[in-house]
Amino acid sequence: LMRVERLCKRYGDKTVLHDVSFTLGQGEVKGVIGPSGAGKSTLARCLNGLEAIDGGEIWLDDIRFGDRHTKLDALRARIGFVFQDFNLFTHLTVARNVTIGLTKVKKMARAEAEAIVRRELARVGLEDKLDAYPAELSGGQQQRASIARALAMEPELMIFDEPTSALDPESVGGVLRVMRELVREGMTMVVVSHEMAFIEAVADDVLFMVDGGIHEEGPAEQIFQHPQGERTREFIQGLS
Ligand code: ATP
Ligand code: MG
Repeated sequence: LMRVERLCKRYGDKTVLHDVSFTLGQGEVKGVIGPSGAGKSTLARCLNGLEAIDGGEIWLDDIRFGDRHTKLDALRARIGFVFQDFNLFTHLTVARNVTIGLTKVKKMARAEAEAIVRRELARVGLEDKLDAYPAELSGGQQQRASIARALAMEPELMIFDEPTSALDPESVGGVLRVMRELVREGMTMVVVSHEMAFIEAVADDVLFMVDGGIHEEGPAEQIFQHPQGERTREFIQGLS
C-alpha cells in the first residue's frame, strides 16, 4: 500500500530523518518506537504529506508524494491522522468536527454526512456526545472523537502519533480498545507509541528509530523478545 525509499528530512542544516526505507502492506500494522527526538513524529507527518521531504520517495500505491502532478489533498484524503493532542476544532461540536471533512473536502450533503457521524461515533463509543463541545469531554473522549473524525473519511491507512501520551491513565484503555478494534477489522496502520505492551500485541512489524534512522526493523516478537541491534537491546531493557 505504501512504500518509503531513502526518505530524508532536514530542518535548516539539521538532518532529522536519513535514508528511512520500509514498505507497508495492505492490512499491516507497523509500530514505530524509539527514544525522544529520534524522528518518529517527523516521519509520521511526512507520511501524511504534512511535511515536505528533502530526499527519497514516498509512494501510496503507484502515486508518488511530492510529484508535481500529484494532488496532495487527494492523497491525504486516503490517510487518516490522529495527533497526540487531538487537534479538534474547539468551537465546533463533536458532530461538526466529524462531518467537517465530509462536507468541506468530500462535498457530501449534510444529511448523508450526519448518518456517517452517527455510525462513526457509535464505533468509538461516543454516540451520546454528538452535541457536546470538545472542552466538555475527557481527554480520552476527545481522542476517540478525533479517531471518529479520521475514520469518517474512510481512509485506507491510519497514522497515529502517540495517541495516548497526553491522556490520564484511566483514559488510555478506551482509546487502545478502539485502536485494537481497528486492527481486528484489518485496518492498515502506522502507530507511533510508547505503549510498548500495546505495540508488541498488535504490531506485525516494528521500526526502532534512533537519531533519524531505522536502527532495527523486524517482527514485533524479534524487537521485543530477541532484539538484534545493540541500541534496540538497551532500549528494550531500559523499559523494564
Ligand atoms: P518524541 O518521542 O519526543 O515525540 P520524536 O521521535 O517524535 O520524539 P521528532 O518530534 O520527530 O522526534 O523530532 C526529531 C528531531 O527534529 C528533534 O531533534 C526535534 O528537535 C527536531 N524537530 C522537530 N520538529 C522540528 C521543527 N519544526 N523545526 C526544527 N526542528 C524540529
Ligand atoms: Mg513525537
